[in-house]
Amino acid sequence: MHYVSTRSAAVRADFETVVLSGLAEDGGLYVPASLPVFSAQEVTYWSWLPFDELAWRVMSPFVGQAIPEDDLKGLLKDTYRAFGHRSIAPLHQVDRNEWVLELFHGPTRASKDFAAQLHARLVSYFLDRRQQQAVVVGATNGDTGLAAIEAFGSCEQSRVMVLYPRNGVPEDRLDELQDADPARVLAFAVDGSFDDCQAMVAQLFRQWPLANVRAIGFNSTNWVGVMAQIVLYFHAALQLGGGVRPIGFSIPAASFAEVYAGYIAQKMGLPINQIIISTNRNDALHQFVHKNQYSKRQANRTVSPAMDFSIFSNLERFVWELYGHDDQAVRALMDSFETTGELSIANKHWLQARMLIDSYAVTDEQTIDEITALFRDTGYVIDPHTATGVLAARLYRRSMVTPMVTLGEFSPVKSAALLAGLGVMAAPVSAPGRRAGHPQSIRVGDLDTIARALAEL
Ligand SMILES: *Cc1c(COP(=O)(O)O)cnc(C)c1O
Repeated sequence: MHYVSTRSAAVRADFETVVLSGLAEDGGLYVPASLPVFSAQEVTYWSWLPFDELAWRVMSPFVGQAIPEDDLKGLLKDTYRAFGHRSIAPLHQVDRNEWVLELFHGPTRASKDFAAQLHARLVSYFLDRRQQQAVVVGATNGDTGLAAIEAFGSCEQSRVMVLYPRNGVPEDRLDELQDADPARVLAFAVDGSFDDCQAMVAQLFRQWPLANVRAIGFNSTNWVGVMAQIVLYFHAALQLGGGVRPIGFSIPAASFAEVYAGYIAQKMGLPINQIIISTNRNDALHQFVHKNQYSKRQANRTVSPAMDFSIFSNLERFVWELYGHDDQAVRALMDSFETTGELSIANKHWLQARMLIDSYAVTDEQTIDEITALFRDTGYVIDPHTATGVLAARLYRRSMVTPMVTLGEFSPVKSAALLAGLGVMAAPVSAPGRRAGHPQSIRVGDLDTIARALAEL
């Protein structure tokens, strides 16, 4: 299996390079040049497999010859040992034919653990083999950064660097970010938005200052993050009727990677017949699905803060698929998006996407109502991000006979203060005030300060 950049088929890489990279050198994202396709019969036969063996079936075509079979199986076994539930990702029924797929049984209680735990093990494996060092870099609103810090904590050959919006990270996440070991983690509070942080990370990849230390992207701009999520769709579908029964998913827009992974899972043979995207008031993706008008905009703060941004990197991979791998067309679209902040795709491709995808923008009030109503009717507590998905699933599902699964993004424990205020959860024990100095603050675009800090790492 080889990989290419979404912006140029001439930029090629093998799996190992993809794992150990951020963006492709032309600013595009790495994508597999082709996809494995499984038959319904074959997929159904996987129903009895433990999670790590299912993961191996789904992932091994993407890994190819890069890792010997026994090593990859060992890495996967170890990865899912980090999750605290026998099923790894259990389904919880919330209504007739409606479910929440709990993706929050990992070490940081967020769905990003699936990407981070696997990526850290793959990075460790390859860096060991090459005797190389790396810095794992990314932007975060809190959650992805914490998942990466946890996952890469035991990877000796790497350090972690996070950029976060100075006023965009919830207090408790900030405490945790600031608690990170300064010898292993560089954190910068950027005087700007999450989107500004992402742009700085992209620029840093283009002009990486360290000659002998690699830069690796830690969020799902890295293909590993997508690959880890494809497995989740197979897992959920297999619990609810094997490879033949249609299934729908509702996905809170905390990143577009999950949507893209669902789309890819369908192309690989899973009978997914609907994907619903839920946003909050920051509805860039909803406007894209609804009107084919995607635009960069200022983020508003909401009760679902991990969805408070407007630039979704994985949209580029999705557009590349819709355009039949036309790298020139993708490059032109992304160049124009970078200058104008606006993106519309060809109508026929948008209609093609609409065959599968619906969307809905949920207000804070609706989110709160959904949490309290579900608790009242079932006793089940969900976090505000998941709540947007549960509501959108109920309002927009196309078929009542098709099981509808909402991705449960975060454990309710991560929103304990809000949920306690609603009376659906016990009040959290407040942590002792141990704020250990704010990490360094920097202006938007100040890569010099970052380069100096990197040189001292
Ligand atoms: C996870 C993710 C985000 C969101 O980051 P958080 O720190 O979890 O808010 C944004 N973009 C990409 C590509 C991601 O994978």
